Amino acid sequence: MENNKKKVLIKVQNLKQYFPIKKSFGQKERLYVRANDDVTLDIYEGETLGLVGESGCGKSTLGRTLLQLYSQTDGRTMYYGRDIDEIAPGYVEDILKNLVSRKQTLQGLRDKEDSARKAYEALPDGDEKYAALEQLHTAEKSARDAFLDIVQLIGGFYTVDDLTPISDILLKEYKQGVEYQKLKRKINEEQISLDGTKSTLKEKGKSKDQIEATTASAKNRISKLESELKVIESQLTTIRSGIYELMKKHKSNTDFDKYEVYRDKGINLARLTAEEMRFLRKDLQLIFQDPYSSLNPRMTVGQIISEGLLAHKYFDKNDEKLQEYVLNIMEKCGLAPYFIHRYPHQFSGGQRQRIGIARSLALKPKFVVCDEAVSALDVSIQSQIINLLLDLKEEENLTYLFISHDLSVIKYISDRVGVMYLGNIVELATTEEIFAHPTHPYTEALLSAIPTTDVDTKKETIILEGDIPSPIKPPSGCKFHTRCRYATDICKKVVPEFEEARPGHFVACHHKLM
Ligand code: SF4
Repeated sequence: MENNKKKVLIKVQNLKQYFPIKKSFGQKERLYVRANDDVTLDIYEGETLGLVGESGCGKSTLGRTLLQLYSQTDGRTMYYGRDIDEIAPGYVEDILKNLVSRKQTLQGLRDKEDSARKAYEALPDGDEKYAALEQLHTAEKSARDAFLDIVQLIGGFYTVDDLTPISDILLKEYKQGVEYQKLKRKINEEQISLDGTKSTLKEKGKSKDQIEATTASAKNRISKLESELKVIESQLTTIRSGIYELMKKHKSNTDFDKYEVYRDKGINLARLTAEEMRFLRKDLQLIFQDPYSSLNPRMTVGQIISEGLLAHKYFDKNDEKLQEYVLNIMEKCGLAPYFIHRYPHQFSGGQRQRIGIARSLALKPKFVVCDEAVSALDVSIQSQIINLLLDLKEEENLTYLFISHDLSVIKYISDRVGVMYLGNIVELATTEEIFAHPTHPYTEALLSAIPTTDVDTKKETIILEGDIPSPIKPPSGCKFHTRCRYATDICKKVVPEFEEARPGHFVACHHKLM
């Protein structure tokens, strides 16, 4: 997943998050709040992607949906922070088992896409053609999703006519992989509990020999499990060399390489079960806007930070290394060691936010959503917390999605910025580029409202007329057309494509401000 030498950590494709509204009496059609409507974006490893927009535009929902705190309505959210083998999710088994029928279904979807394209091309310009274009986009998306589901797992094998043997061997690899991961976790759990027992015995004043004798059976268990793991490992190697041989055999197929590039080890978060997702929670963290409400008032700082570490089995609760680890994280987050036994109400807003950050970072996450993380703080404290987040990002190689309605904060912290309007990202570019060349009329209006201290700069403030439309029945075509000063007839009818206007600069507008 390299792109311009940057590694994609999260790849979002056509993400939708709709919340159903209870039907009122006599109402036939089910209505939805379309909080996120067809969002597509890549988040690169190590970057801070700022997300900005008016309140209610769906930024927080997007952050939470990426973390699968809401199960997403549609679309793909690929995560590349770990290999799919580590999770071995059930959806992979389902696809591999049904490769043959899935390829047939895909052919059906491709036929539908072709008919939709022909119908669209045959129509003269006008309302009917616009409607046909929407249908074509829907058909294209269904076929693309079905295609990616398959090729992401089998790559160039897609070119093989009879997929049955491919299905069999890949399924074998998958099942063995599941066993391998289960065993690995079991060993880890046993080891953690052994560390806890050792610490308890040490605390009770037992001698080294007594500790060794008491823990001998646990050590034995671990060593037996490790031998079992080695057996599975060697079986997996045999299966994988079988797969490699098959690849060599089919490599001469036309288009093998063309499809092979789609094969990757990404995990589609949208398809994981709650149990599978639980394993990844530690990687994907959220820092809340209101630190106070997110901290349990009955727990001390030490307990708050340890809670996740124990739940994710980083330590046994009796392990002496736990407190050492917690103190280390506290220090990194600017919290004095003696705070460890204090309760959240004994702290100021800024300190509470530091506790929230320490709690998230203790788990060594890879991706952190900071949802209005500094908005509730005094301006003087905001910069301290922002600088802390930036320092930690460097030290821990983190990737942030930084959500804020405050453009100056976004400008300061972000490498790239996405601008959201009514559930869609309408513009995405590097921070420098977006502030120097806003290309979407909505971005232009947002930026024009930033106060300036430069009296010589004559800046026109663009007043956005009207209220934000309802996300339940958003305007047709471009959702911004009801408030856009550049809107024309096409804007009311056709949804603009989110396309690359300049290298790395994406915009969804029929009349880009170039
Ligand atoms: S597509 Fe039309 S309405 Fe939408 S932002 Fe562009 S010019 Fe304005």
